[in-house]
Order: sequence, then C-alpha cells, then structure tokens
Amino acid sequence: MSSQDFANELTIAWHKESSKVNFSEVKQFRALMDSFATLKSNFDIEEFHGMKHQVIFNGEGAWKRTPARCEISDLLVVSYDNNHTTPQIRVTFIQAKKSDEKHSLCQGWPNKISQTSFKANLEQWDLLSRRPHVLPHKPFHCNPNVLKDAILPSIGSIIVFHKISPKENNLFYISADKLTPLSLPKTRFAKLKTLTGNTIRTIQGHKERVFACCITTFAESLYNLEIGTPIHKEDGLTVKEDLYRKEFRQWIGNIIFTHVKATKDSDSIEKVSSSERVMQFLEIDNYEDIENPPALLVLNNNNKINE
Ligand SMILES: [Zn+2]
Repeated sequence: MSSQDFANELTIAWHKESSKVNFSEVKQFRALMDSFATLKSNFDIEEFHGMKHQVIFNGEGAWKRTPARCEISDLLVVSYDNNHTTPQIRVTFIQAKKSDEKHSLCQGWPNKISQTSFKANLEQWDLLSRRPHVLPHKPFHCNPNVLKDAILPSIGSIIVFHKISPKENNLFYISADKLTPLSLPKTRFAKLKTLTGNTIRTIQGHKERVFACCITTFAESLYNLEIGTPIHKEDGLTVKEDLYRKEFRQWIGNIIFTHVKATKDSDSIEKVSSSERVMQFLEIDNYEDIENPPALLVLNNNNKINE
C-alpha cells in the first residue's frame, strides 16, 4: 500500500462521511475521525476519542487577554515509520476550524501555498504559530515547552473544513506559522490569511509540508511523515533536543497507554494494535495512566500488517 492508496481511500471515506452530517466544526471533525476509522481494514491506523484541554500562556496582539487561555488542539496526531533501522515518529497538534467562505485551492501552482483567508480565533492561532511556553489547565498535563522547543513549526497546525458544493465538503491543512492576520484586528475573532511560499520546506534535514490544498494532499503528506515535528531517537541531537524528544515520547506513551487500556477492557481482540506497536519504539520503561487523555490518531505507514 502506498501513500496514494491511503490518500485515495481517505478521500473517498471523507467525502462520504462529511456529507452525511451538518456542516459544523464538531460534526465535520467527527466525520474526519470516522473517515480515519474506516481505513482500519487496509491500513495500520487507530483513532481514540478524548477530552479537549486548555492551556494558559502569555498572549500577544491587540486582541490579547492576560493571561490568554484556549484549547491546545482538537487532535494529537502521531505518524510513524518502523521500516528503518531507526524508526521515525512525527507528532502534531491539529486545531480544526470551519470556514463558510468559498475556497478553491487545488488548481494553479501545486508547489506554492494557495492564497486564501478564513475567520479564526486569533488567540488559538497565536498559541500555535508563536509557540510560547504553556501552562496546562488541570487535569491536563503537558510539558510547558511542548510547542516552544519543537524543531519543526508544524507541531502546531490547523485544518479548515469548507464547502465546495452544496453536497461536497473539503478541507485544507496549514502549519500555523504560515498564517497571519488579514488586517489589524482588535478582537479575538478575525480573519487569517495564508502567507506566500512553497508548500514544502526542509529544516535541519527534515522535510515538512506547510500547506495541503485538500484532503488528498493532506493524507498523502501525513502518510509520508511530512507533517509534525520528529520525536524519535536520533544521532547527533543537542542535549536539549534529545531531552525534548524523550519527554515527548514519555508523554505520548502515557496517552497511548491510557487509551489502549481503556479500549482493551471492553474489547478482547488480541491483535497488537498500531498504538502498541509504536510503544515499542518510544523506548520508555514505564507508562503511567493520565487523566482524560486528549483525542489521538496513530498512523503507521509500514504495511507489514498485511503480510
Ligand atoms: Zn488538492
């Protein structure tokens, strides 16, 4: 199975699931989660529903509140590839938005970010794009530097649902740092516009997609590990980066551990799941239960599962 297969299947599932439900942020987000779930028979993928969590931080901008407080994300995505001697793992916090405007993004220049704008919560955008230190709001727990010290900015990302026809919805993906306010907003709810530039960039040797025009290109990039920051062990990392990744792996491990345990209680299937497989590569000795884990998607792009 290739990334194109994954992208095609997710596109078909999404068009079906998203047109079944109302065009609201919550319903479309659930439709996306349901679309991922339908791919389980052919791909090594798992999705867990979870709690939304808020963080407190020093806001910036004319609209700022002191302190600022908002959700860190709707979905935590872990994608990994265990086909190499050293497994690779990427993670991103995705915030889902909906836009009532018309966005026509697929045609034109596939290597350039499409120019568009949409209404958003600027506090949330400020958090994910500027990536300050955060203080998790209890019972949520995360490292204060979870956004700040990621080497790739797509640790904070946004997907925007929109209508392309009365019966058909689509979405686009963007790394939060590739957005900027459209004018000089004074309020928290205002328009963001996309910045110009290439859809792919490379930072410290890591390829990163910053914009995907539709569900298909988004799915392909996710599968190819081009979205999110790396958290796997690697040679030549600075002490700080090594520690950041290790702490992140521990945190992700705890989240997966908690989710898997909750699912296993009601499910006697003895198959090793995608999530449990990734736990082998986190290189963590002990896992702890955490309270109200966030929604999580785990995707393994290695299809040895079908052998
Ligand atoms: Zn497209």
